[in-house]
Amino acid sequence: MNYAIGVDIGGTKVAIGIVDEQGKIHANTLIPTDKQLKAEEMVAMIKQTIQKLLLDFPIRENKLVGIGIGSPGPLDLKEGTIVCPPNLPNWINVPIVENFKQEFHIPVLLENDATAAALAEKWVGAAKDSNHFIYVTISTGIGAGLYINGKLISGERGNAGDIGHMVIDPSYGECTCGQKGCFEWVASGTAIARLGSEIIGKSISTEQVFKLFINGHEEITCMVKEVFKNIGVGFVSLINTFDPERIIIGGGVSQVGEPLFSAVKEYVSRYALNPSGRNTKIMPSGLKQSSGVIGAAAIILQSSE
Ligand SMILES: [Zn+2]
Repeated sequence: MNYAIGVDIGGTKVAIGIVDEQGKIHANTLIPTDKQLKAEEMVAMIKQTIQKLLLDFPIRENKLVGIGIGSPGPLDLKEGTIVCPPNLPNWINVPIVENFKQEFHIPVLLENDATAAALAEKWVGAAKDSNHFIYVTISTGIGAGLYINGKLISGERGNAGDIGHMVIDPSYGECTCGQKGCFEWVASGTAIARLGSEIIGKSISTEQVFKLFINGHEEITCMVKEVFKNIGVGFVSLINTFDPERIIIGGGVSQVGEPLFSAVKEYVSRYALNPSGRNTKIMPSGLKQSSGVIGAAAIILQSSE
């Protein structure tokens, strides 16, 4: 059995796992993303964590076929660098592929995190039987992996699917990228925490906002419903653009479950332009919170087949 290491770099945490060629995770761990640290310091910490994981779960040298890294974009896949992700402000032009190769001496591949997660959903998740689907992660930020006409769409440098900065509603004000009302500014976990904190008058987390929502807090309920509508608006644009057969939602925000899925389905069923697009399936990830790690490993395991 061959194995690969999957590294899923996120704005809140970095997930690392050892994955076999059937998509099963054998060992995994999480480290918090410390935004105070320089990128080199975080990268060193990730490498140390991988070494520790390999001590706990030793793999014969020729059975470890590589390391796949999923990262928020923008990336430059030709150069193997993380260019300047808005949710990782200290990470500017980080040559992560070269850096990892020097330490581990095995193949290292970089991919946009949502694209990698889409690959995982196709491989062992909620899209095994679909050739036209979009995976959308709604977490610290928002991103999409596009799997259309039976293949991944990644673009010239690997940045296709950066839907987090597609404008949804400028009335929400300026996003981290400088535009007004981007998708992740109006609908990510970060946005939900920010909008909820404004209502309550002190800093609260996304989970706390959802608790208030479930308990029926009036203003919070109104705000959360607007957020769900914003997600519907974004999805209609995706459906009109790519004509997917289903959209899979992953990331922390999707864990709120039914209220989100029914609101988005309802919006899509009214406003998608093509009558068949109105029936696009909207479903949760088949891999819970593991699609990032499995997808990152899949970049290696699927390419070495
Ligand atoms: Zn933006």
